Order: sequence, then structure tokens, then C-alpha cells
Amino acid sequence: MATNRTFTMLKPDAIENDHMGKIIDMIIGAGFSIKALKLTQLTDAQAKEFYAVHAERPFYGELVEYMTSGPIVAAILEKDNAVEDFRTLIGATNPADAAEGTIRKLYAESIGRNAVHGSDSDENAALEGAFHFSAAEVF
Ligand code: UDP
Ligand code: MG
Repeated sequence: MATNRTFTMLKPDAIENDHMGKIIDMIIGAGFSIKALKLTQLTDAQAKEFYAVHAERPFYGELVEYMTSGPIVAAILEKDNAVEDFRTLIGATNPADAAEGTIRKLYAESIGRNAVHGSDSDENAALEGAFHFSAAEVF
């Protein structure tokens, strides 16, 4: 059963390159409503924990370094079929493979610096949202 919420981060490259407003506008334009939102910077420990599933992958060290390199925007989004529809909106992990019109096709620099995160399952959406937001910050 699909839930209606997903979790996203606009990654450091998106903030650095001043794409924050355009990406948020695309997200709202695609029918998502924002239930929680903050500008924050991940600590080394937070980034390692968030991406712990990738700890054995060769890109893990670089990923943690990049994700802690500057501020991110974290958000919880609501829409019918949120997880799947958001993955469609952001496009493939590697922008070279991402469909035309997707956020990563438009704004990602590379497979590593790929502008945006989107949860890959309902279970992870709930865990990732709770990792970044207290109950009082979610509307
Ligand atoms: N990543 C990378 N190199 C790779 C695969 C992934 O640097 O070969 C980074 C990239 O920033 C990606 C993140 O690790 O978004 C998490 O990888 P995942 O496979 O979960 O991709 P996603 O779910 O973000 O599309
Ligand atoms: Mg993933």
C-alpha cells in the first residue's frame, strides 16, 4: 500500500548553484505539498548514518564528504503515490541517464553531485523524515 509522503534533500550542489527556488517550484508544480522544510548542514556523523546502507560502496567516502560540504534543504512532501511519483520527477541517479524534464536532467552536475535525494520506499521515507524532523516541525 502506497503512503502519501516522501522525503527529499536538495543537495549541496543545488544550493551552491542557486537552484533551490527553481527546484522547490518544480516540486510544488508537480502536485506535492510541503509538510516540513529546513535549510541545514549535515554533520559527518549524520551523513554517515543517513547513507549507512552505502557504507561498503566505493563512493561512500566521497558521498559523505560532498553531503557535508555545504547546506542542504530537507523536506517532507505529500502527494498521492508520493515515493514513486517523486522518483519519476527527479529522474535517474546519473543525470546522463535521466529523462528530459526531470530535476536531475535539468540541474544535476554528475552522478555524485546530482542535485536531489528522493526516498526509495515508503519505509525509508518515514525513517528519513523522522531522522531530520521532530514531530513539532512536521505539519
Ligand atoms: N552515488 C555516487 N556514485 C554512484 C552511485 C551513487 O556518488 O555510483 C551517490 C549519488 O549522490 C546518489 C547517492 O550516492 O544520489 C545514493 O545512491 P543511490 O544508489 O541510493 O541513488 P539515488 O537513490 O539517490 O538515486
Ligand atoms: Mg537511494
